[in-house]
Amino acid sequence: MTSKGNKKISACILSVGDELTSGQSLDTNSAWIARQLGLCGIETTSHTTVSDDQPLIANSILQLAVKADIVIVTGGLGPTPDDLTRQALAQAMDAELTLDQKSLDEIEKFFRSRNYPMAANNRIQAMIPAGAAAMANTNGTAPGITATLENATVYVTPGVPREMRIMFENQILPKLPRGVGVISHHVVKTYGGGESAVAAELEDLLTRSGPVVAGTTVADGLVSVRITSHAADIETADTQAGNVVEKICERLGTLVLGVGEDVTMAGAIGELLRRAGQTLATAESCTGGMIGAMLTSIGGASEYYRGGVVAYANEIKQHILGVDAAVLETHGAVSEQVSGAMAIGVCEKFGTDWGIGITGVAGPTGGSPEKPLGLVYTSLCKPGGEVTVKKHTLGDHNPREIIRQRASLAALNALRLELLAARES
Ligand code: AMP
Ligand code: MG
Repeated sequence: MTSKGNKKISACILSVGDELTSGQSLDTNSAWIARQLGLCGIETTSHTTVSDDQPLIANSILQLAVKADIVIVTGGLGPTPDDLTRQALAQAMDAELTLDQKSLDEIEKFFRSRNYPMAANNRIQAMIPAGAAAMANTNGTAPGITATLENATVYVTPGVPREMRIMFENQILPKLPRGVGVISHHVVKTYGGGESAVAAELEDLLTRSGPVVAGTTVADGLVSVRITSHAADIETADTQAGNVVEKICERLGTLVLGVGEDVTMAGAIGELLRRAGQTLATAESCTGGMIGAMLTSIGGASEYYRGGVVAYANEIKQHILGVDAAVLETHGAVSEQVSGAMAIGVCEKFGTDWGIGITGVAGPTGGSPEKPLGLVYTSLCKPGGEVTVKKHTLGDHNPREIIRQRASLAALNALRLELLAARES
């Protein structure tokens, strides 16, 4: 296939479905497909999402086919009246839908093998526009369709992610032209510096043109630095990205949690505790077990995380964790003294090296001028019994869930920094 204009091969992705445009489901197909195309050196220039509306789908396919070398459409190949992508493709191609006998045989075989009667409406799935070709679906009933339109090759696959992926890997990927080189993606995940501070620190590395481009994004309280590398082959792409990643990590120091899409705060802590051969327990009030949930989201956490207490009521802080009633009375549940006593208490109860104690005002009620919403105390009981405390003010305007999530991350980060410091000493 020849590419338009310059030598780059470009692709556009079109997702179809009311559930996507209405916000009920997330379009994960486009992201997955764009990454696969990138590995073939094919640049995805747009993601478009449209509802199950035949003229709209037809117009979109036509417009994208004019712009790109490859158009990949997912969704709307089901047997029900709201699945209109095959009709829309026929409309865009100005072609009739015709029966593809081989596809019909495959669909009938699919039902026979599962001992289900085939409904009459499944017959529509064997219809494809004249001039197009069917792509077999080994994991469902809807065959895919491939056609040429306006110099673009159009591929249509089912929307179900599993069916789409298998069809893409088995039937689209082998036919794709290879672009000039490959595009590889890398990410450095950080915590503790705001996005603009991180961007300022990396100013000269955040290039928007050239073989390696880099930029920042924020999600779930973490700032990610994303690096995209273009090269003739994957080794070169990875090497030149690796050089930039190394510089970023050097520059950001302890802000860096790790390199890779899978990196999380809990994973970074797990790694540090495992290497140190140490254990942890948690005593949570305002976060209600969120820290424990984060820690146990990592497989193998039992190696270093022994467990926790959700000490929400004062009596539980007192009777299970041994927080002194007088301390609670004098300083209040949200205080550095109580968070410290919780950390010591849980360390002793669970026999761990490290203990986290956390107490705060998550809102939306319960704030006061002295103790506003978002005030959180986090204590760490360290090996040897020394206790450190941090006061966080996480914003009296933030919703409860955000305060709880930020408090959990802040507490874990305090532990991470102590573990890093202990490793250095
Ligand atoms: P369809 O092929 O349109 O019948 O889609 C079947 C199902 O696949 C939908 O109900 C969605 O749950 C899912 N789906 C469709 N399109 C996407 C997409 N772009 N990303 C993720 N899931 C999708
Ligand atoms: Mg659909």
